[in-house]
Amino acid sequence: MPDKFPESSEFHTLRIIPPAGLHYSTDLLRKMCDIWEKHGSGLIALHGQSGDIMLQGCSSENVQKAFDELNEIGFDLGGAGPALRTSMNCVGHARCEQSCYDEVRTHRTVINGFLDEMHRPALPYKFKFKFSGCPNDCVNAIHRADFAVIGTWRDDIQVDQQEVQNYVAKVGRKYMIDVVITHCPTRALSLNDDDTLEIDNKSCVRCMHCINVMTKALSPGKDRGAMVLIGGKRSLKVGDFLGSVIVPFMKLETDEDFEKLKDFCETVIDFFAENALEHERIGETIDRIGLANFLEGIGVEVDPNMVNHPRTSSYARMDDWDQEVEKWRARKAEAASASEAAE
Ligand code: SF4
Ligand code: SF4
Repeated sequence: MPDKFPESSEFHTLRIIPPAGLHYSTDLLRKMCDIWEKHGSGLIALHGQSGDIMLQGCSSENVQKAFDELNEIGFDLGGAGPALRTSMNCVGHARCEQSCYDEVRTHRTVINGFLDEMHRPALPYKFKFKFSGCPNDCVNAIHRADFAVIGTWRDDIQVDQQEVQNYVAKVGRKYMIDVVITHCPTRALSLNDDDTLEIDNKSCVRCMHCINVMTKALSPGKDRGAMVLIGGKRSLKVGDFLGSVIVPFMKLETDEDFEKLKDFCETVIDFFAENALEHERIGETIDRIGLANFLEGIGVEVDPNMVNHPRTSSYARMDDWDQEVEKWRARKAEAASASEAAE
């Protein structure tokens, strides 16, 4: 209704990439607001689901002017449409004691390596990266990101037994058993008679519950890194998906580690670009072609850690896996040719 509300006749949104970790200086925020008041409506949404700074309400004529000035103070354009989207990481390494890798560096390394994919939409559909420093997953990577990098550790949980005893003395054994011990999803915890804690680390699934409750006594192990989960998304054609574990553990410390991650991201994006149908998220592609085919396509070996609930599934066996995949493929091919013949 431009006759009634003239400003609404052109009301474009500019998506701008926020700083990794979403930290700003007040000086930078003031400059951003001044630019937006000069060229746009002054309305800002911090932050969209993918982390974007969304500057809402701009005329066609002012879009380029606003972007040029924002670019001068260090901002770049975010993603929209069938493209790599703006990414997000938790505050992690900067302030959080649970962080298992440098999320900010990882985020910047990955996104700076794929800016072309963000600025020139050429993918079948949107593709999102998200980076969480530990399995608490404060940026909702597992169910929001096509490619989630989530911190984890592969040695034992660090325990300060004196702090465990202090905690039990404060809250009592009943509370400790009711709220910590019995809430461990894999029954990996037990409380000794002297109020120290026993952890069966091989059974721990890194859910973070005990560490979150007893922050003084417990912390993630020392051999820290990250896992990669692919295929998470909110509802679209096939409903909501959580990401599947594709790389159970990788170190992210040296330049070489970061190069390896970038190469892997490139492989996955290339596979997505070549094999996904239009308007299909990668989780739906995996659902359509099968996880075994996806793993083969991106050159990743099958690993027992990829099984959703290995402890509760009596069917999770790795022997004869290759032959089973061949049999499954043969059955699929047979079914496909039968349906072709019927048509
Ligand atoms: S995801 Fe983990 S490391 Fe990141 S802010 Fe949350 S608790 Fe901290
Ligand atoms: S992190 Fe979770 S699974 Fe591991 S010991 Fe603690 S409560 Fe159990």
